Amino acid sequence: MMKKILQCGLKCGVFAGVALAAAQGQTAKDAHQQVANLVEANSANWKQVSKQIWDFAELGYHENKSSALLQAQLKDAGFSIKSGVADEPTAFVASYGEGKPVIVILGEFDALPGLSQKAVPERAPVTQGGAGHGCGHNLLGSGAALAAVAVKQYMDANHVKGTLRYYGTPAEEGGSGKVYMVREGLFKDVDVVLHWHPADKNSVIDGGALAVTSAKFTFHGVAAHASMAPDRGRSALDAVMLMGNGIEFMREHVPSNTRMHYIISKGGVAPNVVPDLAQIDLMARSPSNTTLQDIWKRILDVSKGAALMTGTTVEVTDIGSDADIIGNDALAQVAQKNLEEVGGYTMSEEEQKFARDLQKTLGLDTLPSLELTKEIEPFHRPDPNAPSASTDVGDVSWVVPTIGFSTATFVPGVAAHTWQAAASAGTSIGQDGMVVASKALALTTVDLFSNPQLREAAKADFAKELAGKTYRTSIPEGQKPLIDYRGK
Ligand SMILES: [Zn+2]
Ligand SMILES: [Zn+2]
Repeated sequence: MMKKILQCGLKCGVFAGVALAAAQGQTAKDAHQQVANLVEANSANWKQVSKQIWDFAELGYHENKSSALLQAQLKDAGFSIKSGVADEPTAFVASYGEGKPVIVILGEFDALPGLSQKAVPERAPVTQGGAGHGCGHNLLGSGAALAAVAVKQYMDANHVKGTLRYYGTPAEEGGSGKVYMVREGLFKDVDVVLHWHPADKNSVIDGGALAVTSAKFTFHGVAAHASMAPDRGRSALDAVMLMGNGIEFMREHVPSNTRMHYIISKGGVAPNVVPDLAQIDLMARSPSNTTLQDIWKRILDVSKGAALMTGTTVEVTDIGSDADIIGNDALAQVAQKNLEEVGGYTMSEEEQKFARDLQKTLGLDTLPSLELTKEIEPFHRPDPNAPSASTDVGDVSWVVPTIGFSTATFVPGVAAHTWQAAASAGTSIGQDGMVVASKALALTTVDLFSNPQLREAAKADFAKELAGKTYRTSIPEGQKPLIDYRGK
């Protein structure tokens, strides 16, 4: 099945590429050169912005300084700004131009708890236990804005019709910020969405990422003396443990690429008191959002069963949910061609020294070549059974044709959500990788404005991918963004 999709994708893509070249001839190449030069001309400023956001290292929904800096910079560049959209204080829409088509570039800027790190190749937090940019979102938000500014200047110079928007999307790390933006209808008039993410290699993101749903299950029981009157108690901790057991037995009867992981976030206060309050914090993931929704219903049943067995009650709160990413081969082929045209980057002597020192801390038997930053991975659809993370870009991809890039902002071999990633994201290595992403985004955005056939092909592919599927989220209808989901 996957092979068939891939073959069709490559064939359709070659066709689209030839049609594009024939239709636009030399002009497409000139346009690419022009907008790539604009990215280059603006890059010093945005590298600086990325470093400032790296310094701010603010957690989801509290990215006040980072969001304000991006808004001020985009305003200066000629975008009109609408802030605080979708009940999210740090979300914003920066817009330029008018009418159709509407092309959106997504930007994220939240950090991760506990990953505070100086830009040095050894573990050295700036603030002990503080937040850090271990997912490189300082580069993500800045690089996406750099692309938007370059495309805006290109549109000005060439009288391009249409609307270009940059969406400032907060709390990607567990806050599902974009899901509320989808719910608010912010993507309703959008033709295509582009995004990118820091990584340790250069490639096109065409689908992949696991759908995820998370929640806290709080059990309420009755406290009693655990030795003198245990019969009068009803243990909330028993319920938590039975729920955990239920999940373990369930594991055999779900598709094997399902992930279910949890912690006991509250387990009582003393062994001689029957706990009247206990809590399990759980996440479930699957390559298919539809499959996950069915599994989630069964998890809710397990929690109800655990409550029933123990004479306790269960309360489900703080529900987060991201869908898987719907691929788009029509867009992927153009994105691949553009990323290859941009090419990677070569590390300087000094960067290579930093990279080698950092690689020594990874504990790997074989160290990946530093040449990887120069190379572009061949096009491939992600393997649905390969280990993967989740992103709220997924929800966007269910409502608008979406395509993305990964670029080598982390030293080869460095994974996201590590101090090594946070260190890389604060150096010129991260910034070099960021500029590669900005150029690839800018070239593809210019193609989307100039080529209606490409937009039509993207729409057709989107309809084909979603045939028979319905977008759903586990986030309850009236739930507002959980601004303090990481605690105050
Ligand atoms: Zn992340
Ligand atoms: Zn991330």
